[in-house]
Amino acid sequence: MLAKKLKKTDIKVGELATGQALTVPIYKLIPDEISGPSVYIQANVHGAEVQGNAVIFQLLKQLEQSHLNSVVTLVPLANPMGINQKSGEFTLGRFDPITGVNWNREYLEHEFDIEVWYLKHQHETDDVLIAKFRDKLLSNCVERLENPWGTSTGKRLATELQKMGHQADIVLDLHTGPKSCKHLYCPEYSLKDAGFFSIPYTLVIPNDFAGAMDEAMFCPWWKLSDVAKQFGRSLKVAVNAFTMELASQERIDLEDAKVDADGIMAYLSHRKVFDNNRQPLDMPRYGCLLKNYKKFHAPHAGMVEYLAELGKPLSADKPLVSLLRMDRYGTDEELQYLSLPTRSVPILHFASAAVHQGTELYKVMTDVFEIR
Ligand SMILES: [Zn+2]
Repeated sequence: MLAKKLKKTDIKVGELATGQALTVPIYKLIPDEISGPSVYIQANVHGAEVQGNAVIFQLLKQLEQSHLNSVVTLVPLANPMGINQKSGEFTLGRFDPITGVNWNREYLEHEFDIEVWYLKHQHETDDVLIAKFRDKLLSNCVERLENPWGTSTGKRLATELQKMGHQADIVLDLHTGPKSCKHLYCPEYSLKDAGFFSIPYTLVIPNDFAGAMDEAMFCPWWKLSDVAKQFGRSLKVAVNAFTMELASQERIDLEDAKVDADGIMAYLSHRKVFDNNRQPLDMPRYGCLLKNYKKFHAPHAGMVEYLAELGKPLSADKPLVSLLRMDRYGTDEELQYLSLPTRSVPILHFASAAVHQGTELYKVMTDVFEIR
């Protein structure tokens, strides 16, 4: 049975050709009195990236027992179309099968002139300004959903999720890599928050919108804060949003999910979402600027052995992968070892061992620094 303060609803995010509704479950914890920032956490927008559901399970178990000060909305299984898109033993679900567009690049970019908007509303107090700006973001989402020309399947799903996200002050989008170690996408203004999560590597991202949920959440608020600053007003960025990459896809690990739920609880405790004091895990944490996060593409096709361990520093002389070419046996191309031009920390690699020329084999951090 659900706890008294926990409500479950479903929202409809689309319809299948045969008419069945595509729905997403929403769990909402509502305290009697609200004094803390509201929280929105979603998981599994990419079909194979299931571990976030286990983290939400572990969060629910803890949040149900907590004395909450905030409304907390938890949305597992956020992309029914993607999650159900199986091929053989594998889940595809990274790209909309109709358009080929990445499901996490479909969020609405708010293209209105924020400077003009600010000048019109600058006489308001911070609280009113923030509430009105939030309304503006929400009405842009509604406009996209109600466009008389319609909107695509992917944009409809994304905008329904975005609408819920915009109502929160803290937004977490739970993903995984293909084969990956844990890492966090964190906007530059929020870097000190990276120290709360149980995640060793953080990508520090600038204020650029490329269609992802976290960017859709923080970009307009960051811009608003910058515009206010230009006009001599100190307005902190009202929303904090992160993408958490919780290791590899096609994997559920409940014990590990507890570790990540504990990290999230430490951050939420710091933000006064609930009363108990929760400390972050004592562990080293490292960062890398997004511009120094490099992709390594296969220079040739072949069968790959991924040699570099994820999350472990790799010097430039050490091999990253070996490339087996059984069509070239007996030549000097039968087995090649490939390394990178610089020292790095490999963060994730391609999931398959058979690769075409040009496949994105690894993503690695370079110029890594310690976060304190
Ligand atoms: Zn993802």
